[in-house]
Amino acid sequence: MKLIFLGPPGAGKGTQAVKIAERFGIAHISTGDMLRAEMREGTELGNAAKDLIERGELVPDDVILGMVKNRIRQDDCKNGFLFDGFPRTIAQAEALEAISPIDHVINLEVPVERLISRISGRRMCPDCGAAYHVSKHPDARCDCGSTLYQREDDKEETVRNRLVVYERSTKPLIEYYANKGLLHSVNGDADVDVVDAEIRAVISK
Ligand code: ADP
Ligand code: ADP
Ligand code: ZN
Repeated sequence: MKLIFLGPPGAGKGTQAVKIAERFGIAHISTGDMLRAEMREGTELGNAAKDLIERGELVPDDVILGMVKNRIRQDDCKNGFLFDGFPRTIAQAEALEAISPIDHVINLEVPVERLISRISGRRMCPDCGAAYHVSKHPDARCDCGSTLYQREDDKEETVRNRLVVYERSTKPLIEYYANKGLLHSVNGDADVDVVDAEIRAVISK
């Protein structure tokens, strides 16, 4: 099975992707997590992307496509994969079409006021990539034991720009996939387990 999770920053893509990927035994491919790993390791790609990411801009399509093409060749993608945060532009979606067919596109819908409180409270694990909310994890510890941190691009000034970039570059994908008959919109403004159940229902139909 091959899935895409679409939605604005903070919609809950990563949170839901972990659950669905585990349940269906498919690879969770987060281009954001991949870029953060490159930045942490200080690779050439990571260093080139850092400034764009910290300003809330998108990383160029060719860089992302190169990363994704390599990633889906790996062994754990044999049963399928779930893209979280990819594609983010029409050009990426068109390039993906030439690489692989997709079964379902899940579009997580969350009102913008809620996105801002989710993102500003998001805390990440540097080691396993898990996302938490500060309201539920005030001790700032991941279940794996590591100390959580706030992403540089989750600070207020950058978040506003990310939402503008989403509206301009990524939102058009909703219509793009609706026209292909692949889009399923799911209410993301509900408890994590409720959203998970709705996504499973949609996929299993
Ligand atoms: P995305 O990958 O779409 O940017 P995340 O999965 O990282 O979003 O979630 C953003 C923030 O919102 C995190 O702090 C996460 O813990 C929290 N969150 C995710 N889903 C829900 C939900 N259904 N209800 C409340 N908070 C949520
Ligand atoms: P979020 O979970 O909040 O939606 P991500 O972790 O997916 O954010 O992405 C963080 C940043 O990494 C983006 O703001 C962008 O700069 C870059 N990025 C991630 N995926 C892509 C992509 N497919 N195309 C371009 N830039 C990307
Ligand atoms: Zn962890």
